[in-house]
Amino acid sequence: MPYLREIVTDGHPTLRKVAKRVDPKELRDPLIQQLIDDMFETMYDAPGIGLAAPQVNISKRIFTVDLQDGNPEHGPFVVVNPKFDSTEGEIEWTEGCLSVPGLVGEVTRFERVSVSGLDRHGKRISFSAEGLFAICLQHEIDHLNGVLYVDKVKDLRPAQTDEELEAAERAASLP
Ligand code: ZN
Repeated sequence: MPYLREIVTDGHPTLRKVAKRVDPKELRDPLIQQLIDDMFETMYDAPGIGLAAPQVNISKRIFTVDLQDGNPEHGPFVVVNPKFDSTEGEIEWTEGCLSVPGLVGEVTRFERVSVSGLDRHGKRISFSAEGLFAICLQHEIDHLNGVLYVDKVKDLRPAQTDEELEAAERAASLP
């Protein structure tokens, strides 16, 4: 049974570490499979659209993502050892983060990205993404490198409008 893990917040040292690559053999370990199930449970409960393992105090290169917009190309996915295959364009986006509660701010991101990695069984997967999905992938990969969006933000501020509150709560973003 999946259970909820505690989401650690800015100031916690695990959020600032470069997370460790996962040996594909490790994916056979029931504890890693449990972690992935728990990450989905924790992400949906938060609720959020993405969650990286360091946010639940596990320094491994794993994140979950699900935009929950009814499009199967937008998740649910878990990506292990992700890397960018290509990046293109530039876009400003208002982001929030489950590990930085109540705040939002504008971040400059790539407009389109291609990302590849492994699925939970060690099979190679790849995505091309734009818009919110591309932003989310970049935000989660930053987490695996010990980077928070607050490091890149122009105008970190308390979430005020309904849309901003939603972005802060969902760790999501607004166009
Ligand atoms: Zn985050």
